[in-house]
Amino acid sequence: MSSKALYKIGDTVPESSVYLCVPCGYAQYFEAGSKFTTCEACLAGTPDGPEGYQDPENEFWQLLD
Ligand SMILES: [Zn+2]
Repeated sequence: MSSKALYKIGDTVPESSVYLCVPCGYAQYFEAGSKFTTCEACLAGTPDGPEGYQDPENEFWQLLD
């Protein structure tokens, strides 16, 4: 298994799939070609996100397979 890539807010979604929010475990579907957004469950990538994931440069979406 080599799909350990992480994505951050604003990255282009490489393939239509369900992605896992690493800090909180929330799973969300993203469409290929759209942009990753914040996690609506924990607000990762915003100042209200979990500790260590409060910067928009933090990568936290991981492809579930
Ligand atoms: Zn989350």
